[in-house]
Amino acid sequence: MDSTTTGIWPSILSIAYLIGSVTFIIGLKMLSNPASARKGNLIAAGGMFIAIVGTIFLYEENGEKLGNYGWIFGGLLIGSVIGVLAAKKVKMTAMPEMVSMFNGMGGACAMLISIVEFDHLVHGGAEVNVVAGFKALMAGAEFDAFTNVTGKLLVILLGLIIGSVSFAGSVIAWGKLNGKIKDFAFKGQHIVNLLVLGVTVILMVWLMVSAHQASTDDVSFNLEINNSSIHLNSGGSLAGLSAGFYIILVLSIAYGVLFVMPIGGADMPVVISLLNSFTGVAAACGGFLYNNPVMLTGGILVGSAGTILTILMCKAMNRSLKNVLIGSFGATATGGGTAKEQGNYKEISISDAAVVLRYASKVMIVPGYGLAVAQAQHVCHELEKLLEERGVEVNYAIHPVAGRMPGHMNVLLAEADVPYEKLEEMEQANAALPNTDAVLVLGANDVVNPAAKNDPSSPIYGMPILEVELAKMVIVNKRSMKPGYAGIENELFFQPKTSMLFGDAKSVLQQLVAEVKAL
Ligand code: NDP
Repeated sequence: MDSTTTGIWPSILSIAYLIGSVTFIIGLKMLSNPASARKGNLIAAGGMFIAIVGTIFLYEENGEKLGNYGWIFGGLLIGSVIGVLAAKKVKMTAMPEMVSMFNGMGGACAMLISIVEFDHLVHGGAEVNVVAGFKALMAGAEFDAFTNVTGKLLVILLGLIIGSVSFAGSVIAWGKLNGKIKDFAFKGQHIVNLLVLGVTVILMVWLMVSAHQASTDDVSFNLEINNSSIHLNSGGSLAGLSAGFYIILVLSIAYGVLFVMPIGGADMPVVISLLNSFTGVAAACGGFLYNNPVMLTGGILVGSAGTILTILMCKAMNRSLKNVLIGSFGATATGGGTAKEQGNYKEISISDAAVVLRYASKVMIVPGYGLAVAQAQHVCHELEKLLEERGVEVNYAIHPVAGRMPGHMNVLLAEADVPYEKLEEMEQANAALPNTDAVLVLGANDVVNPAAKNDPSSPIYGMPILEVELAKMVIVNKRSMKPGYAGIENELFFQPKTSMLFGDAKSVLQQLVAEVKAL
């Protein structure tokens, strides 16, 4: 923000912004470890609070405070109440939906900022920092209208496009995750997507060139100096570009919808992570626009963290980022797949399962979405401790996309105080599985489906999985033979090494605890 006042308040505001930026970085670092993640979140939130309060009370422009306190505090109050209630009420399994919706709100913010600032640009004139302006004039330099009008327009347009795509895409992702919106794809969708994106970019370039032309035409005779800032009254010519701007807005929203609509099945996490990074970049555009370091740092951190996560998720699911960007990959995953006749499966009783686990030397637990649904993480930890007390080595195999959000299983098990050292990442777990006596799969399905390795026609073919069939014995707990998220059969359940232990994960684990205690 171009604060143009003197006195100590601007310096204090700068310090508040510095604290905000530093806490974001520290918070993000602490988020990388489940043990410190909660604290990291609070530290970053504290920094954000300082930056917001600083902006509301200390920011001045042309000697005037922000004002509009009724609107500001009204908005803050409504937003905070909705945020707190939603976060308190949300079930762990519905977390991705909420993350998606909140992410969409960030995109909407960036979109609205761009709309408001475009309006200021065309109707209010392009404002130029007074110090830079006077320096330039004193030095006899030509005023660089390109930097000041066209440069500002570039940032506004980037914020508009990226924010709108993120907003529309996140709302669609929210609807798809909670089942309100079904996958929708049509022939040639890739081409339509690329066309929409191409037209948007062409319009953006046209708008920039026209704005540059308009601003340089007007600048020589429209420099107007008021008491503290210089205005380039190029508004008249820019106003004619509004139509192009609003067409870009509509096209960007359409692209957001078209881009997420066909994506289904196992590929949603990648898209959510990508949309998250889009929102970060859109927020960073706001930081550039207002010359606000906290918005810039926060946006860049979210943008880069989201991009890194997207790349890691792509690797974990064996999808290329190119496919994500043009949309409609994995569209056949949900509800699709091959429902081949797999033969017979065998069941195991609670007492037999307890004996297998109790007398094994090494047990690997594979948690999945069903464990989160059953909220059985505490009793799972109880079983693990019980077995360890009896000399069994127990570890957890964590698949990167198990559950319904990145890191879902880590969060779930951290909630039950499972020691972090017990969690083995996929590669580490796969290396340990051949020496494992028994695997206990708890509400996991897609992440242990061998079709990902063996069946090229499977929608999840190519996704790295936990190769539990390498262990000596596999016990699978779920409630029925129904498929998991990708909607496909799992040949693991029919293999000779596998025994099915049907029932709700919590109740099954409680019974297993009782049985092991009795042995
Ligand atoms: P899956 O969705 O493949 O399978 C979960 C299994 O849990 C189901 O087959 C279900 O079978 C069983 N289950 C449900 N409720 C219970 C219960 N109360 N007790 C016991 N079992 C239960 O889960 P995975 O974790 O293996 O795989 C995650 C899937 O979700 C992947 O396809 C992934 O791509 C996708 N995904 C992941 C996201 C992420 O970021 N992690 C986000 C969005 C999607 P039954 O009904 O018979 O009990």
